[in-house]
Amino acid sequence: MTKYIDIHSHLNLEQLNPDHEAVIARMVEHDVATIVIGVDYETSQEAIAVAEKYDFIWAGVGLHPADNLNEVFDFEKYKALAQNKKVVCIGECGLDYFREANEEIKQKQKILFKQHIELGLQVGKPLMIHARPSKGSQDAYEDALEILESYKKEHNNLLGNFHFFVGDITIATRALAIGFTMSFDGPITFTNDYDEVIKFIPMESIMSETDAPFAAPVPYRGKTCEPYMVKEVVKKIAEIKGSNEDEVAKAVMTNAKRVFDI
Ligand SMILES: [Zn+2]
Repeated sequence: MTKYIDIHSHLNLEQLNPDHEAVIARMVEHDVATIVIGVDYETSQEAIAVAEKYDFIWAGVGLHPADNLNEVFDFEKYKALAQNKKVVCIGECGLDYFREANEEIKQKQKILFKQHIELGLQVGKPLMIHARPSKGSQDAYEDALEILESYKKEHNNLLGNFHFFVGDITIATRALAIGFTMSFDGPITFTNDYDEVIKFIPMESIMSETDAPFAAPVPYRGKTCEPYMVKEVVKKIAEIKGSNEDEVAKAVMTNAKRVFDI
């Protein structure tokens, strides 16, 4: 196994696509593995295609709650993808209230989210959750957790990770109570907003990611974000937790193996 893992990247999006091999070469150089996450049917297929080429790359398949409103979620088609051996999670899926979301949109997103949960349960794979609240609130987390908590009662084996976690300690407590993990990215290297929640979450429930091509960490700000930069996220988590980088890298890898069965 590699030393580092970026559990959420988009090598399948066009910003990184043309430069694929160079991006992967830099991952090898920095000893980084990744899970490439789909945001619609096409990018889910592309995630699998790249995962099939490298033994340190895996895939997630799903339909993003707010980015691809033109696609109608075809459960059986996604199920066929989800059964692929290199697919280690379902998503990204979840609720996005950051952009204007009226009641009707919220209801649609909840139905789509539940379809992803059902898919995860059917194929026995964890969820990669995108939950983005409206400004100054925790609303998308509260609604997502309400849904997950009710599923968890019937399906104790349901697992997942809240990607790009921006929730507070109350939300983190509820996520921990259902056995879910939370992952952090570039922004933790340039704002102290996440220090408190990172200190609070036990190391066995934290993971590292980049969300590449978005949100490059310090010292790469302004550049296209790439998976190899996850090292900076790990370094920062170690600093916040008063631990060292090697220990955090090891803990994150252990967590990723447990949740994603890689
Ligand atoms: Zn993403």
